[in-house]
Order: sequence, then structure tokens, then C-alpha cells
Amino acid sequence: MKKVQNLSDPGVIKDILSRHGFTFSKKLGQNFLINPSVCPKIAEMGGAGEGVGVLEIGPGIGVLTHELCLRAEKVVAVELDGRLLPILAETLGEHKNLRIINADVMETDLGKLIEEEFSGLEVVVCANLPYYITSPVIMKLLGERLPISSVTTMVQREAADRLCAPLGTREAGAVTVAVNFYSEPEKLFNVSRGSFMPSPEVDSAVIKLNMREKTPEVADEGLFFRIVKSLFTMRRKTVLNALSGGMGLEKKAAEEILERAGISPQIRPERLKMEQFAAICEAYCGLMPQ
Ligand code: SAM
Repeated sequence: MKKVQNLSDPGVIKDILSRHGFTFSKKLGQNFLINPSVCPKIAEMGGAGEGVGVLEIGPGIGVLTHELCLRAEKVVAVELDGRLLPILAETLGEHKNLRIINADVMETDLGKLIEEEFSGLEVVVCANLPYYITSPVIMKLLGERLPISSVTTMVQREAADRLCAPLGTREAGAVTVAVNFYSEPEKLFNVSRGSFMPSPEVDSAVIKLNMREKTPEVADEGLFFRIVKSLFTMRRKTVLNALSGGMGLEKKAAEEILERAGISPQIRPERLKMEQFAAICEAYCGLMPQ
């Protein structure tokens, strides 16, 4: 059998890339992992194991994919950059439980992919996401209500802190509310910038979003997220001003909504918890039927 290459070794990576005439694309967020301890940890903590199908986004040259294939029943990796396909054929050719799809994850029907590829398996997502589309990919994975149990991914350290911040604290943002709506986020571990080739300008962290079986009850999901977004764009104002300004309401109407929701008009939107956002949405629907 062919000897497995050490895909975390910068010398091996340079050799593979130069043989294939590959140059890194900054635009596609191509920073490949070279710290050998990180990928086994993502695979283990991400739940790759027997009876589990893993969807990976952006396999690069396959350093994480290899660890996933060693543990999971099946791995499907979606890679946008077609230049990486011959490289992946060389680095991961030994794995019979792997399928690589050359596509843009944002344009991919993931519900259909999961149904076709992972029938009968528990499905988890593991990735070292390209940072230029971290939030849109996470929101796609969560918002499409895919049959997945968790998303374990590398993100910028700052994004990790925001996504995993407790609601009601200064670090939380609209994206924190959205992520908490669908999942229970946890920060797993930090990863330094020196763990990548080429080294990015920021440090990173691995987070895990454990999908909730039941999302919070809200009167109208679309309206709920519109209210959350509006309130956070004016996070330093009072909730009264943010609600009336953000949703285009008369002050009086905003006051009444907050009173019905049992929320002091003077607090800042960033202090609100999930139940309070839901209560505002409920009161809004009651007063302003959609
Ligand atoms: N998993 C590899 C690793 O850890 O070394 C590579 C991670 S690198 C940060 C991100 C990868 O995502 C690159 O291979 C890049 O080509 C790919 N990518 C970028 N945009 C993508 C998209 N829209 N859909 C799928 N893959 C994408």
C-alpha cells in the first residue's frame, strides 16, 4: 500500500503544491493547517465515528479530511477550487469512504446532498471554514434546518468569542442570538496563527454548535430576526429608541410593545436575553398584526 503522506508537514505540502503548480488563493481563504495536533482534535471532538457521516466544507489538500475518513463511516467534502481536485486525488486516494464534490457550498442544496449521501447515518459538519464566508455558511447550515447534530468549525478568534458569548453581555451580537436560536454554542480550543500555511493575520479558535432539538417558540420567525437585527444595529441606544428607530415605529407603539413584553424601555438591546427578544416579537405581533 502507498505510504500515507504527512499532510501537516510544511515540506510535504510545499512539495505537493509545487508538483501540481498550485498557488494559494487569498480570495478563497486558503490557509491550510500545519499544526499536527489540531485535525485529530477537530475530528474527535466533532463526533466523527462509527455510524456517523461527516460533511466537510473546504478540504484544501485534505489534512482534516484524512482524519475524518479514518474515523467516520462516510465523508463528503465540498471544495470550490477545482485546482485542488487532482491534489486531493493524490493525498486521499486511499480512502474508500470519501466523496469529493467540486462546488460552492453556498450554491449547494445541502438538504438534498445529506439525503442522498448519508442515508441512515447521524450527520455532523466539520470544517476549517474560509473566513470570508464564515457567517453566511454558518447561517446556511443552521437556518436551513438540516438534519445535522452539530457543526464543529475553525473560525477567527474574534468570531468565536462573539458566536459563543452569553446572551445579555456586551460581546453578544445579532449573530449570537441567531446561533443560540438554533444551537448551543461552545468554544472548544484556541489555535494560533502559526498553525497555518500561509499564516493568517489573526488567531483562530474551534467552536462547536450543538443543534437544538427544539428551537425557541416565537410568534413569527422572520419578524423575530428582523427585530433582533434592528435592535443590534442600535445596540448602544435604549431599547425603546432602537425598537422605534429600527422598526420604523411611533415611540408610543414601541413603548406599548415593550410594556406588554415586560421590558424596561431604558435598557440597552445588548442586555436582552432570548426570552426577551421572543417576548418583544410576541407583543409586536399582538399589536401590529402582520
Ligand atoms: N481544510 C483545509 C485545512 O484545514 O487545511 C483547508 C481550509 S482553508 C481555510 C478553506 C478551504 O475552503 C479552501 O480549500 C478553499 O478553497 C475552500 N473554499 C473557499 N470558498 C469555498 C466555497 N464557497 N465552497 C466550498 N469551499 C470553499
